[in-house]
Amino acid sequence: MSVLVAGAGPTGLIAAKALADRGHEVLLIDKAAAVGGMSASFEIAGQRVDFGSHRLHGRADPELLSELRELLGEDLQRRDRNGRIRLLGRWVAFPLQIGDLLRGLPRWFAVRAALDAALSPFRRAKGSNFAQDVRAGLGPTVFNAFYAPYAKKLWGVPAEEIDASMAKRRVSAGGPLEILRRLVSVRSEEGKSFYYPRFGYGQIIDAIADSATRSGVEICLSTRLDGLTCSDDGVDAVLCGPNGSETRRFSTCVSTVAVQHLVDAAMPTAPSEVVDAASRLDHRGMLLVYLVIPRPQYTPFDAHYFPGQDTVVARLSEPKNYRDGDDPAESTVLCAEIPCDEGGDLWEMNSESLGGLVSRQLVEQGLPVTGHVGTEVRRLPSVYPKYRHGYQADLDCIETWVNEQPRLVTVGRLGLFVPDNLHHVIEMGNAVARVINSDGHIDRQAWRLRREEFRSNVVED
Ligand SMILES: Cc1cc2nc3c(=O)[nH]c(=O)nc-3n(C[C@H](O)[C@H](O)[C@H](O)COP(=O)(O)OP(=O)(O)OC[C@H]3O[C@@H](n4cnc5c(N)ncnc54)[C@H](O)[C@@H]3O)c2cc1C
Repeated sequence: MSVLVAGAGPTGLIAAKALADRGHEVLLIDKAAAVGGMSASFEIAGQRVDFGSHRLHGRADPELLSELRELLGEDLQRRDRNGRIRLLGRWVAFPLQIGDLLRGLPRWFAVRAALDAALSPFRRAKGSNFAQDVRAGLGPTVFNAFYAPYAKKLWGVPAEEIDASMAKRRVSAGGPLEILRRLVSVRSEEGKSFYYPRFGYGQIIDAIADSATRSGVEICLSTRLDGLTCSDDGVDAVLCGPNGSETRRFSTCVSTVAVQHLVDAAMPTAPSEVVDAASRLDHRGMLLVYLVIPRPQYTPFDAHYFPGQDTVVARLSEPKNYRDGDDPAESTVLCAEIPCDEGGDLWEMNSESLGGLVSRQLVEQGLPVTGHVGTEVRRLPSVYPKYRHGYQADLDCIETWVNEQPRLVTVGRLGLFVPDNLHHVIEMGNAVARVINSDGHIDRQAWRLRREEFRSNVVED
């Protein structure tokens, strides 16, 4: 019997390939019409664009980087980061650099932030929510100017309503001393450069998909996992594809689908407390608004970050600036990332109105008039897991149930309800394939150990 891998994003692709390389027959399905999930690329106005700003971070495991170099050759380019962040109505370089911070921000801000840093050993070390934790670590000045509005923008709720564990996942620089170490470590290149392929981020995914196909993985697109019944010796999966619905038996199911949707699929057999727990977990969605601009370049920056509440845009990227590629010379495309909830007012706006809104707000933030001649919008319903108070107990409840199913495992950014990067999920995909025995049985003990390691992943922005 073959193994079913649900979701052909990077986690699913890597898991499927690694399983096939270990001798399994593998069917990889995705509800979308293309592979890649959030890491895919596609074309707008003759240019490859991504689902928002994507970089392969310089801190990725060197072994992974050399494998990707083998797959992509010279097309995998090393680039210096060239971003800016809008703070207190001014621009400063991002990632932050100490000289630029001192020059760019008001004197009072620098003095208060320095005072906060000096007082950090005297602040209560840990809080019970994201706001308290970040305030305790970095001080009120940086929290109020940056993290409080940014948290509200990303997750749609005040930082006080977010669980403290999100601080560990997202505030990668740690406390003020660690931030200072990074700011002054001019010789260290960590975090200042990244890798990006000549034909868009999705070139990484396409190369992995080709390699998975060569390893024997069968890929079925436009096919959704709609139902799941687990037993001791296999799983019965309802697959809904272009030709209708069918139930097929597999030795094992590796799911990279959002964990709450996995429970929905298994609803008739999942216990009610698991179904209730899943109903309380949700993700923040994202609108991606692409503006086509009839100019060779909009700005020389790769990305602009907007933590403030005075614009709906969280980040603006210009894909052309991420690579030395074969893009059209006379036009460029911008991508505005707008976090929002699926089905809300912003989500429902049409392309033209969204294009107008983004364009106006960019000018208000001090950027040039776009003069765009085209707008396209993409909608991702599940992007950021919302770590509301109590989410961990719900997640534990679901994971305990999944772990009791001998032939089911959930993994990946959506499957583990984490905000992780590509390099993290590639490691997860490889790891999950190693804990599935030749008869499809899952080595739970080995998986539990790997799962623990993934809890310490820290997200790079
Ligand atoms: C705006 C943005 C910026 C990012 N920037 C970076 C960055 O700079 N660097 C970085 O390393 N990472 C970045 N990431 C994260 C990166 O995109 C993800 O870590 C990665 O794509 C997660 O892979 P995954 O396979 O776990 O999930 P996904 O990519 O979400 O793939 C899941 C797949 O499952 C499919 N699916 C869902 N439900 C079903 C179903 N019922 N049946 C069948 N298929 C289903 C989906 O269609 C999707 O293809 C960013 C993400 C976003 C949104």
